[in-house]
Amino acid sequence: MKDYYMDHAATTPLSKEALEAMMPYLTTEYGNASTVYTYGQRAKAAIERSRRTIATTIGAKPSEIYFTSGGTESDNWALISTCEAGREQLSKTLQPQATAAAVDQKYRCSSKALMKCGHIITDQIEHHAILHTCAYLEKRGFDVTYLPVDHEGHVDPDAVMAAIRPDTLLVSIMVANNEIGTLEPIAEIGARLQKHAAETGQRILFHTDAVQAYAHIPLDVDELKVDLMSASSHKLNGPKGVGFLYVRRGVKLPSFLHGGEQERGRRAGTENVAGIVGFARAAELACGVNTQESAVRDHLIKRLLVEIPYTSLNGDPTHRLPNNVNVCFKYIEGETLLLLLNEKHIYASAGSACASGSLEPSHVLTAIGIAHEDAYGSLRLTIGPETTLEDVDEVVDLMKPIIAHLRETSPQYRNRFITS
Ligand code: PLP
Repeated sequence: MKDYYMDHAATTPLSKEALEAMMPYLTTEYGNASTVYTYGQRAKAAIERSRRTIATTIGAKPSEIYFTSGGTESDNWALISTCEAGREQLSKTLQPQATAAAVDQKYRCSSKALMKCGHIITDQIEHHAILHTCAYLEKRGFDVTYLPVDHEGHVDPDAVMAAIRPDTLLVSIMVANNEIGTLEPIAEIGARLQKHAAETGQRILFHTDAVQAYAHIPLDVDELKVDLMSASSHKLNGPKGVGFLYVRRGVKLPSFLHGGEQERGRRAGTENVAGIVGFARAAELACGVNTQESAVRDHLIKRLLVEIPYTSLNGDPTHRLPNNVNVCFKYIEGETLLLLLNEKHIYASAGSACASGSLEPSHVLTAIGIAHEDAYGSLRLTIGPETTLEDVDEVVDLMKPIIAHLRETSPQYRNRFITS
């Protein structure tokens, strides 16, 4: 039976080209890049070539790219180190009394707790790599504003600007949401923050989580006016366990992992040479091709909405990731649907997760105002460059009888539509 892998937002298969590029560094070229002899210098050269390749894909300088273990580490590093360094700077550069008074007056933050100030602006639909890091920072005394989003998942740039306080250190808004695919107005927020800095002298760092967007849509750090950007290799047919953090030149970002002098002293730990080389090869390929993904996505959306009753699309209908489809099927339960799809070799993801025995709807669907009972019936299908129109046609054909069957056995559906 044919496999239909429709969960590319979770991870992607390693491409043949990336594997080929990695093979020497998994076998004969095993040198530690920190050593001075030839083996080490060849590994170091491979890392630097990869850094140049990656930098080109986002309009950055190679010296602004730091390799990490993936999106989670990049997000943690960007948020935690910015906030810790920023708070130290706040306490040095602003008059403690004046800062305390200003923050006190406007935000009722206790004067005694000046060292507890330091503010981050993010939004309610970020990935947990951001949200849980923010929760950790809250425990360390930082304040976090979680902006709401509209019913398609957009963050409002006006709301970002309105949330700024004298002690705001960082704004972190994702390029594209991992569940519903909606693209956020990053360039507009970046431009507004830059204007704010020019007018007031308050320089707020701007981080974006581009894990789902990188190599799927064009990204240029200067056009977006971001200071920090996270990306991960396994979302673009590269290996798992490797990513990067872009850090704009001049941004003070203390190290997050302490140890050796790797990554110019900013990210300790022996480099994952094979992973970095595979990531760069995958990025080079993914950024260089114009895939048919958005046409396949639109065909899939159309068929689902037209042919399956009581189905609605989540997220922005057009301004969304080219590979993302997220729908709610009313009167069914997504987790059961996933299991039945699995039997047909269709691999996808639901918008609710079984946590401690009860189904918890996703924070993203809740934030865009989807009713809990509808969120339970949501399904995310994320395609890849190899997914064809024929594949999605077969998926819809296999899915239709499953959904019809689930509805027939659903008490809510029966009560509503089957009277006898
Ligand atoms: N941020 C977003 C938007 C993601 O979708 C993911 C993973 O799904 C991550 C961060 C975490 O990335 P990684 O799996 O590389 O740690």
